[in-house]
Amino acid sequence: MKLSQRITHLTEGGSDGWDVFYRARRMISEGHAVTELTIGEHDVRTDPSILAAMEISARGGHTGYAMVPGTDMLRDTVAARVQMRTGVPTTRNNVMITPGGQAALFAAHMAVCDPGDVGLYLEPYYATYPGTIRGAGAIARAVQTTAEDAFQPRVEPIVAAADGAVSLLINSPNNPTGVVYSRQTLENISDLCKRRDLWLISDEVYDTQVWQGEHLSPRALPGMADRTLVVGSMSKSHAMTGSRCGWIVGPEEVIDHLINLATHTTYGVPGFIQDAASFALNAGSILEEDIAAPFQRRRALAMDLLATQNTVGLVPAQGAMYLMLDVRATGLSGEGFANALLDTHSIAVMPGESFGSAAAGHVRVAMTIDDDRFASALKILCEFASTLADRQAAE
Ligand code: PMP
Repeated sequence: MKLSQRITHLTEGGSDGWDVFYRARRMISEGHAVTELTIGEHDVRTDPSILAAMEISARGGHTGYAMVPGTDMLRDTVAARVQMRTGVPTTRNNVMITPGGQAALFAAHMAVCDPGDVGLYLEPYYATYPGTIRGAGAIARAVQTTAEDAFQPRVEPIVAAADGAVSLLINSPNNPTGVVYSRQTLENISDLCKRRDLWLISDEVYDTQVWQGEHLSPRALPGMADRTLVVGSMSKSHAMTGSRCGWIVGPEEVIDHLINLATHTTYGVPGFIQDAASFALNAGSILEEDIAAPFQRRRALAMDLLATQNTVGLVPAQGAMYLMLDVRATGLSGEGFANALLDTHSIAVMPGESFGSAAAGHVRVAMTIDDDRFASALKILCEFASTLADRQAAE
């Protein structure tokens, strides 16, 4: 039987840099001790107080169908939070609750892209981006950012790629680079969107994890509230990855259509999960700071450690739970280095190439293991890189 192009071509193209990840998983299942610095999963679980709120809600009967757009309480909570953080007037009518940020990314592209339209996204990119755009029927077109620009996007290559484009997807703080877009970058991007009449889809799921600079939501820039769809999530801010609770914030008219889409796809998010999310967001900033603190600490550890050597370069680590390391001095690709590191030292990191060719010669390190193990893994990584670089220089 024939399957749709949409499903069979969802993840076409590009190198499969995920081989290292799957190999590490296989080694673990075969009983090897592997230090895993691959995916963005916290090393703490959801806070017991959030679980208690979830239980009270579920036992109280909030286990039936919930309101499709989200509960009034959670929509109001998200709206108030967004308004407080950005100054942009926001009500529950600007908010739809989704099963995680991923569903919001898909819904946003469904809302603005017709089949055959181009959806732009920036490299290096979060793994699901091109498939999400294709899933909505659009053509996913990558625009490179470069290590030389510290992965801050420039508008010229975006303009050069903008023929046929209806949307631009950005992500700051950025996964995989850890870069936070500057105000200048975001103003340039906003001007471009207005000039070329593009929707801006702004993935802000790491907005509580900023170590340097500040997070600016482009929806707050002049004239942008009408053309920006913001994606948010409980996953990273509150270690609720498995609860699948996120949102999309945008113009009322778009939200109305998205509610219609949700009625015909997800049919909403469980009520007890939404109640737990409302509790968590209303619990003040302490919970969020507790979740973010280990990454901030490990980033500081890493900066100290990396400052003692000059083989491995560090892309400015301004936010999110990752470090992007430049290993080009070893003479290996990111993939080659990651494979060699796994074989030699049983340490698993993600090759930069798995996030697009813009991150070739880099590896991404997730700061998701305890401080001591993290510091020692990073030390081994640097020593290994230095040995490889010496060997390369001697050849
Ligand atoms: N955007 C980015 C940049 C991410 O890194 C992730 C998760 N790793 C998501 C969106 C999706 O997160 P979730 O669906 O868990 O909210």
